[in-house]
Amino acid sequence: MALPECWSCDYMFKWRELLFVIDGLKKCPNCGERQYITTQSNRKLGTYGIALPLIPFILNVLGLTWCLTGLITFLSLIFYLSLIPFNLKFTNDREPLF
Ligand SMILES: [Zn+2]
Repeated sequence: MALPECWSCDYMFKWRELLFVIDGLKKCPNCGERQYITTQSNRKLGTYGIALPLIPFILNVLGLTWCLTGLITFLSLIFYLSLIPFNLKFTNDREPLF
């Protein structure tokens, strides 16, 4: 896994710079070019995101206490968010979602 690079100047983004990408758009801090998230990486993140709400449900079925369920769900969310920057890929144009 590697962090994405700017399509224009090959600047490698830092992890914390990618935690919040608003509306699939990010500006390169080095050259100022706009970076659009590719459809492929967007879909990948969406697939992981769908699994998240299932976690508390599954834990509930397993009979864990709500306290433990909440804790594990919270940790999964943190884990998911921390992996987002590694799954991003940028392109110079906005791609259609489908
Ligand atoms: Zn750049």
